[in-house]
Amino acid sequence: IAEMDRGGMQDRVDGIAHRARSRLGTGKLADYIPALADQDPNRFGIAVCTNDGRVYAAGDAQEVFSIQSISKVFLLALALRACGGELWSRVGLNPSGMPFNSLSQLEAEQGKPRNPFINAGAIVVADHLVSAFATPAQHIQDVARRLSGNPSILIDRRVLESEWQHRSRNAATAYLMKSFGNIANEVDDVLYAYFACCSLGMSCVDLARALNFLASAGYARCADEQFVTPALARKINSILFTCGMYDAAGDFAYRVGLPAKSGVGGGIVAVVPGKLSVCVWSPLLDASGNSVAAQYALELLSNELASNGTTPA
Ligand code: GLU
Repeated sequence: IAEMDRGGMQDRVDGIAHRARSRLGTGKLADYIPALADQDPNRFGIAVCTNDGRVYAAGDAQEVFSIQSISKVFLLALALRACGGELWSRVGLNPSGMPFNSLSQLEAEQGKPRNPFINAGAIVVADHLVSAFATPAQHIQDVARRLSGNPSILIDRRVLESEWQHRSRNAATAYLMKSFGNIANEVDDVLYAYFACCSLGMSCVDLARALNFLASAGYARCADEQFVTPALARKINSILFTCGMYDAAGDFAYRVGLPAKSGVGGGIVAVVPGKLSVCVWSPLLDASGNSVAAQYALELLSNELASNGTTPA
């Protein structure tokens, strides 16, 4: 990035936003809860946060959306900070190759989820945080505010209510794991913490800033703190690379080649270690649950950085 002048980066972001708009209209809205099914499908935003703290944004980059599964990155970072590697006796580290809310592997594998980025895995991580913090949902909201430098970030009560009313599948997942001894706390408390995190409302700018610590060897610039160690940032990026894009992680790795986490609200955060973090948002999803236009924008960005000599990952 150093060689790229700032105007150059803004031009690139503007150009990518312009080209990615050609993909609007393809895909479908998340419809597992009513609160996500009424999003405007034509929204598109992108924000790049370079490791010097500058933000380059285009489109609806300031619009708040439901971060959904992107929250699993905050959950994981906090759990690893609080409990260290002991988490890995309860959650695996391999891609699942199954939909994010699948139950079938859990039964076969005695209640141990394949990885922390499918629902079952994130629910175990949330269980850790319920053990570690008196008010885990509040804690994660505070962390999101601190890391992004935006004190107005909120848990969207309407989304949270909708998640709670339609919780049957996640509740079944949690109870199945509890039956195998892999959930320590009351299922309702764990689900509430998990849903509250999914229901955080953040913009592309907020998310690019908040997750920049993964590009900056663990240093969170907005909070001016070493949020995780460099080694832990590298490990989290590895899990993002292998498991961050639902069961399409391999396709995305081939197309884009960056650690990334997607959410069914249409957001995707990606990391170029040592260089920048980026968040792209557009609500229409492909069959795996990944935003169509956001994936395309990241593919364009990755190609641009590679041709500029800023090789991804
Ligand atoms: N709140 C969603 C669920 O638990 C998260 C889905 C996602 O973004 O992957 O089903």
